[in-house]
Amino acid sequence: MASEFQVIDHPLIAHKMTHMRNRETSTGLFRMLVQEVSMLLAYEVTRDFPTRNVPIETPLESTQGPVLDGKKIVFISILRAGNGILDGMLRILPSARVGHVGLYRDPKTLVAVEYYFKVPTKMEERDTIIVDPMLATGHSAIAAVERVKETGPRSLKFVCLLAAPDGVSEFHEHHPDVPVYAAALDKRLNEKGYILPGLGDAGDRLYGTR
Ligand code: URA
Repeated sequence: MASEFQVIDHPLIAHKMTHMRNRETSTGLFRMLVQEVSMLLAYEVTRDFPTRNVPIETPLESTQGPVLDGKKIVFISILRAGNGILDGMLRILPSARVGHVGLYRDPKTLVAVEYYFKVPTKMEERDTIIVDPMLATGHSAIAAVERVKETGPRSLKFVCLLAAPDGVSEFHEHHPDVPVYAAALDKRLNEKGYILPGLGDAGDRLYGTR
């Protein structure tokens, strides 16, 4: 499959991203904006998910209506900043299953090191969306997708808020079969692997740890 990268281009998302980028935005507002943008992203990235008709009784008559097909969708959060997106997506799909991948970036090499991995059972029957706000160098995303692929999910997508061009190319060199969705594509990375203009450290801004 050809590499797919899509910026979800929508005025509401663009507006909320601008407020999120602003350094003056408080932790509480930042968290709320991440959730709101994630809800809008969830709406778009699940657009092609399969449905099947089930019989139902309305108050007036019998009919059929579409429901999502197969086992429950799985969101997999790359800890810890992925949890910000996860919280938003779960508001749209509250019965989704959830997995976590714990990775930290070695500050010297920028290489992703795994410390935690837990996903639901029967992944081969589940459509899976891996979430992490920043696709910067791509190292964490590449490592997380590698691990999740070992569980054999029915389908796999990667969703972030901001992507850097280098991160997208690197990601698709390793995983050309996994579509990537972002709220915005930024200019470049700085020497520390941060996205420019970016929004800073997504985890720190979500949790007020700096
Ligand atoms: N991780 C972040 O939180 N921010 C960046 O700009 C890059 C990686």
